[in-house]
Amino acid sequence: MNNSTALPAGKRFGADTLETFDAVVVGAGFAGLYMLHRLRKLGFSVRLYEAGSAVGGTWFWNRYPGARCDVESVEYSYSFSEELQKEWQWTERYASQPEILKYLNYVADRFELRADIQLNTRVTAASFDESANRWLITTDRGDQVSANFCVMATGCLSIPKVPDIEGLERFQGNKYHTANWPYENVDFTGQWVGIIGTGSSAVQSIPMIARQATYLFVFQRTPNFIVPAHNAALARTAVEDWKANHREYRERARTSLFGLTVEQGMKSALEVSPEERETEYEQRWRHGGLAMYAAFADIFINKDANDTAAEFVRSKIRAIVRNPAVAEKLLPTDYPFGTKRVCVDTGYYETFNRENVTLIDARSEPIDEITAAGVRTLAKEYNLDSIVLATGFDAITGALRNIDIRGRTGVPLKEKWSEGPRTYLGIMTSGFPNMFTITGPGSPSVFSNMVVSIEQHVDWIADCMAYVRETQFASIEATLDAENSWVNHVNELSGYTLFPLANSWYTGANVPGKPRIFMPYIGGVGPYRTKCDEVANNGYEGFAFCGKRAKSEAEVAAARASIKDYILGNSTQEQERLSSRQS
Ligand code: FAD
Ligand code: NAP
Repeated sequence: MNNSTALPAGKRFGADTLETFDAVVVGAGFAGLYMLHRLRKLGFSVRLYEAGSAVGGTWFWNRYPGARCDVESVEYSYSFSEELQKEWQWTERYASQPEILKYLNYVADRFELRADIQLNTRVTAASFDESANRWLITTDRGDQVSANFCVMATGCLSIPKVPDIEGLERFQGNKYHTANWPYENVDFTGQWVGIIGTGSSAVQSIPMIARQATYLFVFQRTPNFIVPAHNAALARTAVEDWKANHREYRERARTSLFGLTVEQGMKSALEVSPEERETEYEQRWRHGGLAMYAAFADIFINKDANDTAAEFVRSKIRAIVRNPAVAEKLLPTDYPFGTKRVCVDTGYYETFNRENVTLIDARSEPIDEITAAGVRTLAKEYNLDSIVLATGFDAITGALRNIDIRGRTGVPLKEKWSEGPRTYLGIMTSGFPNMFTITGPGSPSVFSNMVVSIEQHVDWIADCMAYVRETQFASIEATLDAENSWVNHVNELSGYTLFPLANSWYTGANVPGKPRIFMPYIGGVGPYRTKCDEVANNGYEGFAFCGKRAKSEAEVAAARASIKDYILGNSTQEQERLSSRQS
């Protein structure tokens, strides 16, 4: 890398010999794999560390029965490569976990990513050495490497949350967490099983487990709003339509609110007649998936409008579940529709019509402790062979707070974020130069089709890193002013919505002691992309550069043009870089 602070590989750095890279990427899910690909295309030397024993991220860890995406497969996939889009064929409307994992492995092979990936390695610390403008990265296997840039692709839902229930370790039967499921087949045949939690992971696995187990007890603390997936084999006509029009569909997703192609209703739910409203909801229910989100323009900002959607879902629950007392327990009533992540199901409510399933309302009958034999509530003990914890994640900030990250002044990130995460655009945090977060807090992230948001972040970050290199700055950092006003903007926007009314993982409410703040950016994927592009086009407005700029303004403009060439993949310089890497 043509930068004054770059070190040739193997050069002595401090007391020990360190391996040096232009960039370290942490995590090998959708985000890390694409980041690695982009950086290699730009000629950066990269090491990617992944804690798991294989690539795939979410889709490597969450192997529970029934796991699949709830954004349609064709949309929940990369758009960066025409060839990849032509070559890959999804088989179902919502791809299963094994199929998505196969896809990500295909991507790793197709773009020859594996050589730069070190598996079974957890990054434990990253500290910025201001004198060298480099990150020193440490792993649980004793590696220490130095890099100009550090990109955290550590995932928003990658740290499983084990509930703090008394006696959990005493249980003598089998214990599983949905987000850390065994590789080998788990067979519940002949077993009495208990599942704790009724979020998306539970909603997908409960119907599958109920079909296998002798008996299933579902411990529900908060009922969820759940809409049908209507999953099916992908029709040939749908595939042909997607292949023929994918550019237009992708563009629609990129400029939408949620990163989805689904049609956004522009009317208020309150301005239409009850019949028209019912028809709209019914159509979206029949269509399936997250289409309900976009039925009307004011579902997330007007409680009365939201109530109409909530009541529609409640009427469906009452119609599906035969026992009215059980149906009543399943009705979400104490938070607005969609303010906890809506779950997408296949036969969830129908499962409670089975004779071998009992719903336990863990509010009126709280879990007291786990015993050697099962779960004891305040009413009775349930003897179990297996317990499934579908209890979610330390979301959005968990993976970042798990690493001892120290910035320019040595201040730990954990300390800086002690009252909630603070970022500029969700991409960088002030005081931590040259460290980027893909789908970080303060970006649309989990409030979108995440692959769309991941690609947008990766492209922006790769372009930014190329810009820093071409302009020969040593580092880039978000300014405190820009960060403060972005955080205010993010909070202000969420304050206009109904989201703060729910105890959701979006706000950290599921982790005791975690600061309570709505973490994603709610202003929409399209407007957010426009804002990020404006920032870059205005010379990275709100960012400060450090180190001597060795080039004139005219040379910087030329550098910008050549970066555009890299992005378009038609630079001869890039070809030269790649061939010099290979030789
Ligand atoms: P991840 O896939 O989480 O990958 C992060 C990787 O970083 C992990 O492999 C982890 O092991 C690794 N890592 C973390 N910390 C370290 C460390 N310190 N050192 C080394 N490695 C580390 N989103 C949607 O938009 N649509 C869906 O339908 C959808 N379905 C989902 C279903 C499930 C079951 C779950 C849990 C999430 C789902 N999501 C969905 C969200 C999903 O997380 C994202 O869509 C996407 O897969 C995230 O990719 P990522 O690369 O950012 O993070
Ligand atoms: P989650 O939505 O956080 O659900 C966790 C569940 O566990 C909640 O029902 C929670 O109850 C319950 N719980 C936690 N601790 C408990 C305790 N001590 N006692 C009783 N109940 C307890 O987690 P998740 O289901 O794993 O889903 C997380 C996110 O991952 C989703 O929202 C979604 O974004 C993504 N995901 C998507 C899919 C998909 O369909 N594609 C599938 C799985 C996950 P409370 O609500 O009362 O806290």
